[in-house]
Amino acid sequence: MRALADAIPEPYWLRQPGAPEPADPLTTAENADLAVIGAGYSGLWTALLAKERDPGRDVVVVEAGTAGWAASGRNGGFCAASLTHGFDNGLSRFPGEMDTLERLGRRNLAEIEDTVRRYDIDCDFSRTGELHVATAGWQVRELGAYHAAAAGRGLDVRLLDRDAVRAEVDSPTYLGGVWDRDGCAMVDPARLVWGLRRACADLGVRFYDNTRVDRIDTIPGGLRLHTLRGRVDARRVALATGAYGNLLRRLRHYVIPVYDYALMTEPLTAGRLAAVGWANRQGIGDSGNQFHYYRLTADNRILWGGYDAVYYRGGRISTDHDQRTATFHLLARHFAETFPQLDGLRFTHKWGGVIDACSRFSGFYGTAHSGRLAYAAGYTGLGVGATRFGANVMLDLLDGARTPLTTLKLVRSKPIPFPPEPVRTGVIQLTRWSIAQADRHDGRRNLWLRTLDRVGLGFDS
Ligand SMILES: Cc1cc2nc3c(=O)[nH]c(=O)nc-3n(C[C@H](O)[C@H](O)[C@H](O)COP(=O)(O)OP(=O)(O)OC[C@H]3O[C@@H](n4cnc5c(N)ncnc54)[C@H](O)[C@@H]3O)c2cc1C
Repeated sequence: MRALADAIPEPYWLRQPGAPEPADPLTTAENADLAVIGAGYSGLWTALLAKERDPGRDVVVVEAGTAGWAASGRNGGFCAASLTHGFDNGLSRFPGEMDTLERLGRRNLAEIEDTVRRYDIDCDFSRTGELHVATAGWQVRELGAYHAAAAGRGLDVRLLDRDAVRAEVDSPTYLGGVWDRDGCAMVDPARLVWGLRRACADLGVRFYDNTRVDRIDTIPGGLRLHTLRGRVDARRVALATGAYGNLLRRLRHYVIPVYDYALMTEPLTAGRLAAVGWANRQGIGDSGNQFHYYRLTADNRILWGGYDAVYYRGGRISTDHDQRTATFHLLARHFAETFPQLDGLRFTHKWGGVIDACSRFSGFYGTAHSGRLAYAAGYTGLGVGATRFGANVMLDLLDGARTPLTTLKLVRSKPIPFPPEPVRTGVIQLTRWSIAQADRHDGRRNLWLRTLDRVGLGFDS
């Protein structure tokens, strides 16, 4: 626990220099063609793509805090091609559509890379791929099955035995792995947000920060967004509020706020890095039901997060939950077990953030207010890349057009809703307990998890 003694209780990424000056809060009555609520990735991609599709469109973004202060500025920075929260989850839920979804996801990732280049966004975007590692025998078997299915569909995945995976990154806990070589990029999440915001502003998008939208009303020809001291009348509205689904009642059935936590180490010296290897700098995820994700930063720190996803009773969201000592201790202990050769390395930052989890793990989409509002939510911890796809979906839905995106089952279907409170809290705690048991018992899923699997309801760390 000495390693945590000096850790600053704030997201590493958001403390970097370079954050844009916040825009003034809204104090007037405004009009717009498109109003976007929320300035995380979901809202910023929507604003940017709306301008790229139609430069003459007047676009306003209204943000309760500042751009990226929530999940988008404090995540692991794994920018995945997957639109379905991973290949296995997609294959089990959308088998008939999987080839299309993989193709669209890879195109989406390529277009993110292209956007970063075109707008000169300085966010350390790097196509490292992702290394899935097994730390138990049952995970080796599951990774083998994943590899066979993914390779069979032509994906660039490489199966690694114990020695091969340890030659990539050396941990005594590794038993095997699969390197998905082009399905994921690493980014600096906050600098991606800031760059997207700048690109939007350069194209003429207007921003109002520190302005919460309290209510949405229908008016002739559009919708009215009410804020404390102003309002926006817009022809169309994109709701991009992540885990904060209060503006649309129906989202409360589908989305639960789940807290995820991360640590950042001090930069590794050349000697320490050599003791780990990691020459190809992949993002890494281990393969338990409760999993860690970890990666290098440009200056060779290690971000180490995940495992202990926490749902607070009643779905409460509060900045008090951004810090959780028990989870930080657990994460630090797991880090020491994974990389014993880094003994003495100190953590400099510790933080948490809220994820918009849904029961199918991947984003879902829809419209409200007679098609004048579109929403995208439920990315369940894998939204860095997929929110851009969701932004295109929202714009297609707002156009009212039948497009290759709006006709996908992924877009037309909804997750199974969660039960209301207080049953919801009970169900989630039972599921968490069952998942931890499965990880301890060779991956064996108890009757409760098997029942959830059968009805397509899940909970994921
Ligand atoms: C610790 C952590 C690690 C993660 N790691 C990864 C990862 O490595 N890879 C990955 O793909 N995903 C990861 N995620 C998930 C990813 O960050 C999210 O899926 C993504 O950022 C969601 O973007 P968003 O724009 O939908 O939501 P947010 O970033 O949460 O943005 C929503 C915005 O809406 C605003 N808002 C809400 N209500 C209102 C209102 N009424 N009026 C005005 N504004 C409002 C909020 O202030 C907020 O700024 C992680 C998340 C966390 C918390």
